[in-house]
Amino acid sequence: MFLRQNFLPKNLRDTAVTTFTFTVIPLMYYFELFVVLPRYYEQWSPAYNFHFTIGTFMLFNICSNLVAIMLCDTSIKGRVIPAEINPDWRYCTVCETIAPPRSWHCEICNICILKKDHHCIFTGCCIGHDNHRCFVILPHRFDVERDCNTRKER
Ligand SMILES: [Zn+2]
Ligand SMILES: [Zn+2]
Repeated sequence: MFLRQNFLPKNLRDTAVTTFTFTVIPLMYYFELFVVLPRYYEQWSPAYNFHFTIGTFMLFNICSNLVAIMLCDTSIKGRVIPAEINPDWRYCTVCETIAPPRSWHCEICNICILKKDHHCIFTGCCIGHDNHRCFVILPHRFDVERDCNTRKER
């Protein structure tokens, strides 16, 4: 895994949405576990502790996956280019280098991204070769957390 040199969002929109993401997640955690949960279970009872532990574990998972997505360098920068060039490789006129198949140039990051999926505004970086698994896990974690917290209301 390559680490990004500059993991901060590149433009104003990405900065605003990333700030929103990192503000809302702790607020959601606080609201669910310290406001909603005590209304359903007696504080520090076994059921309360169970939900509290799962909620904290999910917070850790969500935050660690978000940070992993942001720290992971998915660009072609610093990668070793083979001596023999395959015919399906292309030349990127912006990066002024050859790029492998399935890589696309991101206009916000201003570099070619390996196996580019999309540019994620919530993390301010591109989803590609190395951070795709973290991105796939992330919505699933949100789903599990929402399920854990709303199941009792159904
Ligand atoms: Zn490029
Ligand atoms: Zn990008």
